[in-house]
Amino acid sequence: MKIFSEKTVAQESLDEVHCNLCGHPVNKNVFGYFEDHISVNKTWGYGTPADGETHSFDLCFDCYSELKDKFVIPPRVLAETYEYEMEVAQ
Ligand SMILES: [Zn+2]
Repeated sequence: MKIFSEKTVAQESLDEVHCNLCGHPVNKNVFGYFEDHISVNKTWGYGTPADGETHSFDLCFDCYSELKDKFVIPPRVLAETYEYEMEVAQ
């Protein structure tokens, strides 16, 4: 025989996202998902000034675009493909 008891487990819920650069909130779309943005979690390694620290931040698309324009080497841009849909449609 097994006897169970109920336990309450603490859960985190993500209620808001703000762009770390401009501070504006990242809005939710009609489906309840946050609009597209960048989320970075980086744990810095040995030999860096931030050794062992994890830095986490979010950027809205506008701030990403401004930051990207400052890159000496532009980011590699790949077009999203819809091979599956194309295969299905044929
Ligand atoms: Zn921003």
